[in-house]
Amino acid sequence: MRGAVIHGPGDVRFEARPDPVVQAPTDAIIRLSAACVCGSDLWEYRGINPITGPTPMGHEYVGIVEEVGAEVTGITPGQFVVGSFFASDNTCEICRAGFHTSCRHREFVGGTQAEFLRVPLADGTLVATPEVPSDDLVPSLLAASDVLGTGWFAAVAAGVQPGATVAVVGDGAVGLLSVLAARELGAERIIAMSRHESRQKLALEFGATDIVTERGDAGVAVIKELTDGLGAHSVIEAVGTQESMMQAIRSARPGGAVGYVGVAHDVALPGEELFYSHVQLLGGPAPVRRFLPDLVDRIWRGTIDPGRVFDLTLPLADVAEGYRAMDERRAVKALLRP
Ligand SMILES: [Zn+2]
Repeated sequence: MRGAVIHGPGDVRFEARPDPVVQAPTDAIIRLSAACVCGSDLWEYRGINPITGPTPMGHEYVGIVEEVGAEVTGITPGQFVVGSFFASDNTCEICRAGFHTSCRHREFVGGTQAEFLRVPLADGTLVATPEVPSDDLVPSLLAASDVLGTGWFAAVAAGVQPGATVAVVGDGAVGLLSVLAARELGAERIIAMSRHESRQKLALEFGATDIVTERGDAGVAVIKELTDGLGAHSVIEAVGTQESMMQAIRSARPGGAVGYVGVAHDVALPGEELFYSHVQLLGGPAPVRRFLPDLVDRIWRGTIDPGRVFDLTLPLADVAEGYRAMDERRAVKALLRP
């Protein structure tokens, strides 16, 4: 088969890779229907995360089950499935508490920008759709695999309640879909922080009520102005830098909460400021699997259309262009069709 492999910063190639095979009796092999490029893939692409050797890329996926191991009972060949970037057993104590990305048996699922994929712990990791979806549902189901699931977790972690005021730091795909999640969870006011016109437009479509273009402390000042000097009840952080994290914490009111899902890079929190802020923090790699059955159901019923976040569709063979377009912020998110 062929798939995307990164060889160094800015160097993504579509090349031959070994066909995945069932290695454990709990594995499934799926034929990818679609994959995509994640904002977090850009950490490698930009050379911020070191690349030690040629590495298969991608961790978002939907597809048709080709084959399952002898111990897989809940997933069968021919089904269309959505999974998350960490395989999980869905049965251990941590999974049952809803934190599947810290499952005792978790395994990272990488190399999904390819034609085929091995998924470990198939029964616990994959969620099948009621039937094979029509083509127009595929982008939304793919979004559930990570960006929607992550945005949803961010909103839940930030404690979004009906009637709440929510601020979102970050206008990438996750930030935009956390706007949608906040709307679905009943937020009354959703303030999206973005200075890019096309992303502002999408944020408004997904349910944002206000757009703030300032960032850093200037952005915090505007959030305070909009909230009677108090700050937002819930703040979503979807970038992962020191500036964005502090912007999020300072935008929350005392007793409020920050849900942080931007992969932290060199973030150091000031203990004393945090102590006096009375702001709750919960985040990390999103346990997407917790939300998948609900998200698939909402997409299947047509309640939400998160696939609109893909503004570029390319053949998988042109994956390098998908990275370039996202790196140059010409695209919010690139969908790849094998
Ligand atoms: Zn588990």
